[in-house]
Amino acid sequence: MSKTKYSPSHFKEHTQGRSIQKMSLPAEVVLPLLQHTGAPCQAKVSLKDKVKTGQLIADSEKYISAPIHASVCGEVKAIEKRPHPVLGEYQAIVISSDGQDSPDAAIKERESPDFLSADAIRRIVRNCGIVGLGGAAFPAHVKLNPPQEKKIDTFILNAAECEPYLTADHRLMLERPQEILGGMKIVMKTLGVTSGIVAIEDNKPDVIRIYKELVDGKSIKAVSLKSFYPQGAEKQMIKTILGREVPPGGLPFDVGVVVNNVATCLAIYEAVYMNKPLYERVITIAGTIVKNPANLLVRIGTKIGDIIEFCGGLTEEPAKIILGGPMMGIAQYSLDAPVIKGTSGIIVFSKKETAPRPSHPCIRCGRCIQVCPMGLNPSQIAKAIEKGRFDLAEEYNVMDCVECGACSYICPGNSNIVSLVKLAKHIIKTGSGANRRTVP
Ligand code: SF4
Ligand code: SF4
Repeated sequence: MSKTKYSPSHFKEHTQGRSIQKMSLPAEVVLPLLQHTGAPCQAKVSLKDKVKTGQLIADSEKYISAPIHASVCGEVKAIEKRPHPVLGEYQAIVISSDGQDSPDAAIKERESPDFLSADAIRRIVRNCGIVGLGGAAFPAHVKLNPPQEKKIDTFILNAAECEPYLTADHRLMLERPQEILGGMKIVMKTLGVTSGIVAIEDNKPDVIRIYKELVDGKSIKAVSLKSFYPQGAEKQMIKTILGREVPPGGLPFDVGVVVNNVATCLAIYEAVYMNKPLYERVITIAGTIVKNPANLLVRIGTKIGDIIEFCGGLTEEPAKIILGGPMMGIAQYSLDAPVIKGTSGIIVFSKKETAPRPSHPCIRCGRCIQVCPMGLNPSQIAKAIEKGRFDLAEEYNVMDCVECGACSYICPGNSNIVSLVKLAKHIIKTGSGANRRTVP
């Protein structure tokens, strides 16, 4: 059965023509000690300490982790639990800005960056706290250091940005092409690969045109991909471009590939050339009730409420605010939750746009199977979870689900398969409720 390429509407017209704007400095930033995949950091500063923009404030000795840096210059006001956009609440370092924005002395142009060894580049990327900015926030130095037995031959620059509404990567590709390609070359050199591919969805013809002109077409090629959701999922992208299938439970490393997104490559470039830590990023603020939708360069730790206010506020009371895209993002309960490293956007929905959809029993239409980028049977997985059979769900490879939401979106019965998957993953990972036969 051939796969259906069915996709939600793009809704990118609100912001794709809007150049990146720099947001004014917030009065206060909230920097959770966990904003990446891996071990949390420990605070390296104390209450009332003065810090400079870009100064190291939290770190971990664990390999899979990434240090955190002050995103404004000012004073440590609190180290306490604060709203966290993914975890509900988490210990955070709160810094009040003095408005000066004086940078840490270590941030300066590096001499001879082109002669750095691969190990030196990994160290810089780690010390600058770079993580994957596409959403997963996986520490970038780990991706740059694949296991020795894996022979990596291809690097893919993921410029798909397939999530509806989000246009931050689109704008970065247009406005910072040289630095992004510079970051891509650093990654290729570190991995020792000679083949690079810039993968762009065909709903960005302006980006395709520019990159086809900028790359040599030999060591680096720009390819246009059909726009559909979730084209940007790593495993989906590898299959589309190279025809290689990442095995169940495997990683792109297993088929000789590393994938990074656009903003991550830019951050790597800035770390290597400027020794600039990851303390700011570009996000999209969109939604029909946002007065001035935008692509904004914001400091990590800026609160959602401050960003919405900077965009002129809302035209009506919001029904739902999502951090990230509408398909994979997370609904927020507090406007005090901050932007963290993996935040790609803030999408605001009105009551009309979020009217509840009643769910109906599965009619076995098979549409969810057709759209699943991981080749799973979402309906079968959902049924196993509903019966409390987490062992069966695991056998059906529930852990391979990338939580893209395509199955829930396409389901005529409005089955909320992703919520069931998230629950099952949590129970399988933590062992909590493993013996239960019913869904909690
Ligand atoms: S099962 Fe997971 S990966 Fe497959 S479509 Fe559903 S959410 Fe996406
Ligand atoms: S799309 Fe929905 S109704 Fe159709 S098979 Fe999947 S779960 Fe069942």
